[in-house]
Amino acid sequence: EKILRVHAQKIKVDQDVEWTTIAKSTPGFSGAQLANMVNEAALLTARSGMPAVTMSVLEQAKDKVMMGAERRSMIITEKEKKITAYHEAGHALVAWFLPGSDPVHKVTIIPRGRALGLTMQLPQEEKYSQDRTYLFNNLCTLLGGRLAEEIVFDEITTGAGNDIERVSDIARRMVCEWGMSSEIGPVTFHTSDPLHGQPGQIMSEQTARAIDDEVKKLIQAAYDQAREILVAHRQVLEALAGALLERETISRDEIEHLVLEKGGEHA
Ligand code: ZN
Repeated sequence: EKILRVHAQKIKVDQDVEWTTIAKSTPGFSGAQLANMVNEAALLTARSGMPAVTMSVLEQAKDKVMMGAERRSMIITEKEKKITAYHEAGHALVAWFLPGSDPVHKVTIIPRGRALGLTMQLPQEEKYSQDRTYLFNNLCTLLGGRLAEEIVFDEITTGAGNDIERVSDIARRMVCEWGMSSEIGPVTFHTSDPLHGQPGQIMSEQTARAIDDEVKKLIQAAYDQAREILVAHRQVLEALAGALLERETISRDEIEHLVLEKGGEHA
């Protein structure tokens, strides 16, 4: 909040701006990102000819810093848009129904950067370490996108490529770096850089296979968990995807409303 106030001295700020609220919604932001956000808000304000930076402009600027610029000019087919809506709804709902996940802040199918859509989760506080449950929840949430596509369209696309890469990376690190597999135990194996692995850490073929098995088991368990959630809340999934197709961006409050309406329970 203090950093924000320092940057805010350079711009004209509307009375409605509450820096405490903004500080709370930007955990993990670096000083540079905070500066970036305030500058971006000032730019947006100047461009639209408004007299001072408002809360809603700061929110837009925050999204841009967190998720990249919107690419509204990108041409997307109706089919792609529909798949993206279900994909993002899948991410959002798995996170929603898993206790201990970072709360879902916003879901959008407006393309940003290289992504066709995004589900934004915000940690409730600054975190410096993560427990196994939290990491496992991340795996489930990441797989939720692909799963929703599979459940609804009985088909899978390349859209989940990045999710799957992240899933593999997290699962492998859980097993090889953080000793989170009881089968492998608390041993470190450097797998991220096999070419420059340090001598003495060359693993046997047997260990390599055991690691692969553990990673696969972990991912399969997350997959099953996420599938269970989406199948159980299929109606909410449909409603959320429908709302996204209609309004493109859905806030936390709107998701909560949909969940209550469709009879789901918050985790
Ligand atoms: Zn995804």
